[in-house]
Amino acid sequence: MTRWCTTCDRPVEGEVCEVCGEPVEEPTHEPMPWRWRFFIVATAIYLIWRIYQLVSWLTRR
Ligand SMILES: [Zn+2]
Repeated sequence: MTRWCTTCDRPVEGEVCEVCGEPVEEPTHEPMPWRWRFFIVATAIYLIWRIYQLVSWLTRR
């Protein structure tokens, strides 16, 4: 897997950059923050609840 040297701004094969000699960090793919997942799930539940209320209100009349 190719890493990226932030000092030289170039891809690096291996753990140390051949140009500047700086150790290159493992590329990290940040997972989606749990707050976002919670927000999306909460919004979905809220919307389903509102639709359910609307449908039950419409069918009651
Ligand atoms: Zn470098």
